[in-house]
Amino acid sequence: MGRRTTSKIPKKSVSVSAANSSSKDMFSAQERKTCWQAKRIGNNNTDNQLVRRRTIAVWQHRWDSDNRGRWTARLIPDLKTWLARDFGEVNYYLTQFLSGHGYFNSYLYRMRKVESPNCIYCEAEDDTAEHTFFECNKWLPEREALAMQVGTFTPRTVTGKMIENITNWDRVKMFTEKILRLKKVDLDRRQLE
Ligand SMILES: [Zn+2]
Repeated sequence: MGRRTTSKIPKKSVSVSAANSSSKDMFSAQERKTCWQAKRIGNNNTDNQLVRRRTIAVWQHRWDSDNRGRWTARLIPDLKTWLARDFGEVNYYLTQFLSGHGYFNSYLYRMRKVESPNCIYCEAEDDTAEHTFFECNKWLPEREALAMQVGTFTPRTVTGKMIENITNWDRVKMFTEKILRLKKVDLDRRQLE
């Protein structure tokens, strides 16, 4: 076998490291660090509370103005409430959901891992996290099953439901995991064809 040129898309399994170096979003390790910092400076001292409020305000500003995090900011409009939750681990699949970096052809196309940003299941030209979890008919049964459990949800409301209680959190977690596991298999099959 000769060496592949860098311009060619390798025919191999689609892999993303959404929780690690390829994602610069405030999740997983970074989010844990942020939460820890927030807790560390958040004690009963009034000065520290002021510092904490200001720090969160700065984060919120960055959150709102960072273009790369536009999808994340839509999902998590209120960073303070999100960070104040005392449960809810963000795993590999939730990181993909929240960051938009993962098994989504629009993202994989930008990363030059696939040849087209189109959805592999429908006519959508841009397979994003929003398309996958909120629009694509392929996942309608999963979406409806989750809606039966947590109520109707949109990108604007879903994280609010997650932080209502740990049961909801786990339901959304399972929803994202089920879809992304199945989708990974289909994306890999498509790559190997
Ligand atoms: Zn689709």
